[in-house]
Amino acid sequence: MPDQPALSLEMQAWLERQAKTPEALNPCVRLFGRGPDGTICKTCRHLFSHRPGKKRFYKCDLRECTNGPGSDHRVRWPACAKYELKPSRTK
Ligand code: SF4
Repeated sequence: MPDQPALSLEMQAWLERQAKTPEALNPCVRLFGRGPDGTICKTCRHLFSHRPGKKRFYKCDLRECTNGPGSDHRVRWPACAKYELKPSRTK
């Protein structure tokens, strides 16, 4: 395999900034736009989890489910514009 040229420091910093933008992290932000500042998917009513075995997987019901890791959703991703606060559980 041929050697790849090293990236400049400016290019590395740019790539790191890109990787941290909401659009780069959460595919729904690319589709629907950014959600309210400071909100994350964890408290959104569209986030759900299932547990086929010992491990729990999170999904967003607004994304296509691939039944695989491609549609796994991170609870700490920045929210998209379809964010809706999950109703609190009251007894
Ligand atoms: S904010 Fe809600 S609708 Fe948007 S990606 Fe997160 S879980 Fe899905």
